[in-house]
Amino acid sequence: MRNNLDRDIKEAAGMLRNSNFTTAYTGAGISVESGIPPFRGKEGLWSKYDPRYLELNFFLSKPEESWKVIKQIFYDYFGKAKPNAAHLALAKMEQGGMLNRIITQNIDNLHQEAGSTNVYEFHGNSMKLVCLVCYRVFPYGEISLDHLPPRCPDCQGLLKPDFIFFGEAIPQKPLEAAYEAASRSDIFLLIGTTGEVMPANQIPPLAKQNGAKIIEVNTEESNYTNRITDLFLKGKAGEVMTKLEKELFTTPLKDD
Ligand code: NAD
Repeated sequence: MRNNLDRDIKEAAGMLRNSNFTTAYTGAGISVESGIPPFRGKEGLWSKYDPRYLELNFFLSKPEESWKVIKQIFYDYFGKAKPNAAHLALAKMEQGGMLNRIITQNIDNLHQEAGSTNVYEFHGNSMKLVCLVCYRVFPYGEISLDHLPPRCPDCQGLLKPDFIFFGEAIPQKPLEAAYEAASRSDIFLLIGTTGEVMPANQIPPLAKQNGAKIIEVNTEESNYTNRITDLFLKGKAGEVMTKLEKELFTTPLKDD
């Protein structure tokens, strides 16, 4: 198994070196090694919390109740997390000209904290809060969560985390960036995503239809693996991406 992974890492590195446009498409799995659990699965957040707290209508009708749970999930887990080796490897790939774009379903800000700049957040960002009355956006650190629900310092409107709740549309900018990436990428590098979340899960198959090769990193097979994946790198994102980064940046192109 180990030898196969090493062989596949070399193959992935070769594909990435030859690509003119590479997109990384990341999901909750890339942040698991940073201490943030995914939503789904045995250890997933939905085994502990009721997802209805993230439904827009529920939030609007019971903001205090929703905010108590949101605070626990997003600001206790997410607030303390730091980028892991996989986030750092992607930032290094971008700096080295080997990664053109990150489309992430994550809302934890860890790609930006790792140093990536070309990041499009499909589902928004939990580290910002938006006023539902005047639409001003505030960094999480500027707003006290001692009294819930938090209110806009300017107009006293209800503040909501600036990520997409169930029942909300995907923002236009990341949607366009994702479709553009799907139309022009030679490689789509999927990391830690089940492919179960609509409509985000439609982007990788579209990239495949448009000729992209799909490299997938995951601890287990996803909805994509047997349908569109060309090269499956099984393992934890941090471990696999560390190997891939080493292969890309330290291994000579040809053996002497
Ligand atoms: P998911 O929760 O449905 O699936 C997570 C995937 O990661 C699974 O395929 C799992 O096998 C894989 N995985 C688990 N540990 C891994 C590891 N160490 N390395 C590599 N892969 C690993 O995630 P999803 O498909 O991204 O959908 C959930 C949605 O919920 C996302 O769209 C996102 O908006 C949101 N979410 C975000 C965060 C975050 O921002 N960190 C966390 C939880 C959920």
